[in-house]
Amino acid sequence: MTTIKTTCSRCGDVELTPHDLALELDPAEDRGTYRFTCPSCGEIERRPANARVVSVLLATGVVYEIIRTDPITEDEIENFVSALNTEPNPFRLLTH
Ligand SMILES: [Zn+2]
Repeated sequence: MTTIKTTCSRCGDVELTPHDLALELDPAEDRGTYRFTCPSCGEIERRPANARVVSVLLATGVVYEIIRTDPITEDEIENFVSALNTEPNPFRLLTH
């Protein structure tokens, strides 16, 4: 099992497994944020993740969610919905 070393603001150095982490990615950026629950104190911590950290974490099997920081417009939703109706592989849209 891969071990990921990071720091908790309360406990200092802690070791996590990929299962303990989640990545929050903004599609407009090549970096994101990772969050983890400290195995020692049980608090949720958030840390910025640069592009390198993101790719390392993804490679170890960390789950991720797509976060949009800019508000979605009505038009974008409409376009997305109509694209979903005609797109045989909707997941392809997410990579744009
Ligand atoms: Zn802690």
